[in-house]
Amino acid sequence: MNKRNQKNNRDAQPVAIIAAGNGDMGFIREVKERSGTDLSACFHCRCCAGGCPFIEAMDYSPHGVIRLAQLGMREEVLKSATIWTCVGCHTCSIACPMAIDMAAVMDALRGIAIESDAAIAEPDVLDFHREVLRSIERYGRTHKLEIMMRYKVKTRDWFTDMDVGLRMLAKRKLDLMPSRVRNTKDLKRMFRKNAEGGIP
Ligand code: SF4
Ligand code: SF4
Repeated sequence: MNKRNQKNNRDAQPVAIIAAGNGDMGFIREVKERSGTDLSACFHCRCCAGGCPFIEAMDYSPHGVIRLAQLGMREEVLKSATIWTCVGCHTCSIACPMAIDMAAVMDALRGIAIESDAAIAEPDVLDFHREVLRSIERYGRTHKLEIMMRYKVKTRDWFTDMDVGLRMLAKRKLDLMPSRVRNTKDLKRMFRKNAEGGIP
């Protein structure tokens, strides 16, 4: 990335003001336990934000979410759009001098948000995640065409990205029929165990 792009990216970083209140100081421990990452090590150098390809769609920058967690602002974190916008690409984890695994943090936060019945800022993203998981549960693989169709039915958003879908079909990037792994029994058992709360 050249210097001008780096500057533009920095300028594009979300600038939501963080107002500290009476924080839930157990929250950061909960996130640490679930993600295996010590958020208190973050010293806000902003390297993660500088390289994040989705920062313009976020309400808080990635390190902003960490700051909220450090301040114990549980509700603000769980209802932020950032935790759903992150695609877990690990660009930030590679850049972080403190080896903070941001993707694992966001994953943990999404799990806590669902379990806490927090207001989901990006419900369509959650629907998409669910469709991907359903596909894996059924076939042991993702069947992209079916995921897209089911997602469209759920969101009733028929035409957005239609051109991309048609181009992918034309280039044979979308299989019409699903392929499945030979043995899906273990997978189904794993999903069942997770639904019963057996997998942390
Ligand atoms: S790169 Fe690491 S230390 Fe720097 S702000 Fe991001 S999470 Fe914190
Ligand atoms: S893992 Fe998430 S926060 Fe980090 S660079 Fe990728 S999209 Fe951004």
